[in-house]
Amino acid sequence: LAVTSALLYLDNITVSFDGFRALNALSLAIDEAEMRAIIGPNGAGKTTMMDVITGKTRPNEGVALFAGVNDLTRLDEAAIAQLGIGRKFQTPTVFDMHTVEDNLLLAIKESRAPFSNFYWQRTPFERERTDELLERIRMTDQRKRSASELSHGQKQWLEIGMLLAQEPRLLLVDEPAAGMTDQETADTAVLLREIAKTRAVVVVEHDMQFVRDLDVKVTVLHEGSVLAEGSLDQVSANERVIEVYLGR
Ligand code: ADP
Repeated sequence: LAVTSALLYLDNITVSFDGFRALNALSLAIDEAEMRAIIGPNGAGKTTMMDVITGKTRPNEGVALFAGVNDLTRLDEAAIAQLGIGRKFQTPTVFDMHTVEDNLLLAIKESRAPFSNFYWQRTPFERERTDELLERIRMTDQRKRSASELSHGQKQWLEIGMLLAQEPRLLLVDEPAAGMTDQETADTAVLLREIAKTRAVVVVEHDMQFVRDLDVKVTVLHEGSVLAEGSLDQVSANERVIEVYLGR
């Protein structure tokens, strides 16, 4: 196996669906506490890549190492989550009937000892953790509100807070800016940059203004492999990338 200092190391990953290669010899490395934006046209393989990292899809070929030693291709989804890989899907899955702080509390309890105690009992540790997470997602003012009353953007932030309860080393985020207002989009970029100071974050995104706000290295996927990598300005000036995006 390869020796790597990267937190996430994908090498030559191929995923075939009935002979069609959704990923085709994809190689990618993400460092500890790095944020990376993944862009690419529809069908480029972005979702399939996230599915391989989280163990939802097993590659036909290739290596996927986490923290240099854990072979993700041999672990199931629960074991991979346990290693410290969290994934946020586009649709938030917060509990609408609970308040913001109770949603966080449930996530904290779940991360420590799943199904072990009742949600209305709060230990001092859990209170402290809840306050800390509310701070981090900047929703302390909203703590008593029912999740059902939150805006789309606030629900996304709450779900990010719930994922942070597990303190993942790698957070995968699928199109966080989708459906957000311009202000929410800008605030989300600030939030993710803050989060990425202490953990790696991989963001799949279509909104180029958002990617610009993130101000991170960009990987362009196309037909299941990496077409270009660099700053947004660099990849935007890349002729192959322009061809793919303009369909020439
Ligand atoms: P993206 O997220 O970049 O839009 P996907 O990873 O969803 O791309 O899909 C890559 C390609 O693989 C697409 O052509 C898609 O139709 C195909 N694909 C994805 N999942 C499956 C599946 N379960 N069965 C067959 N084809 C699939």
